[in-house]
Amino acid sequence: MYMMKLTQREYVQQLKKGIDTVLIPIGMLETHGEHCALGTDTLIPREFVKRLDAILGKRIMMAPEIAYGHSWALAPFPGTIDVSQRIFTDYVRHIGEQFFHQGFRHIVLLNGHGGNISALNEVSECLADLGAYVLTIHWWLDYREQIAAIAPAVGHAGEDETSCVLAIDESLVDMSVAHHHQDTLSRKIKSKKMGLRIFPHGNSGDATAASVEKGERIYQSLVPLMVKDIEELWEFAQSE
Ligand SMILES: [Zn+2]
Repeated sequence: MYMMKLTQREYVQQLKKGIDTVLIPIGMLETHGEHCALGTDTLIPREFVKRLDAILGKRIMMAPEIAYGHSWALAPFPGTIDVSQRIFTDYVRHIGEQFFHQGFRHIVLLNGHGGNISALNEVSECLADLGAYVLTIHWWLDYREQIAAIAPAVGHAGEDETSCVLAIDESLVDMSVAHHHQDTLSRKIKSKKMGLRIFPHGNSGDATAASVEKGERIYQSLVPLMVKDIEELWEFAQSE
């Protein structure tokens, strides 16, 4: 169920019925190559949530998305709205704490953006310290083997992400400006505008190989794995 659509009364009824799992999608607003929508990292988790809700919606409160995250490397590009890691970490942690104090002992953080990873590690530890059971899913990393079998030229707005956006709505992608770029720069060195060198067109991987069909296959193969991970979270909490 979607929290945004519930009245306060309906929400309280759900809590009384024992619903104690919240899923918080976390995305980003940033450049995704010249071809993909700026909201890619929020749009993809949104699609996963829609599909997860159809399966587990009676047991999970789907919270609204956190659509702004941290993106140091892509901050020099127009369209990237970067929140500092310190502020972002505190913000997400506070939201998680609010849910925990309202009765959600299972918290799922469904992340769509690489720059959020360090912050979410800290958030998950803080929430676990409170007594919550926290599952953090970075979809493109946690299921990378399954993704690579479908769309091997992965990357930022690469074959995988671009396919996933195409499968949502083809009008969100302009394939006429999709690029293939293999990034080889060292991450050991940091400089202010290194993102412009790492991602000359704002993307990595081969976006030109993306297709609607590949995106649909990614959703179909990953959703059951996410369901399994969420069920494992419940089993884990029950076993303690
Ligand atoms: Zn992305």
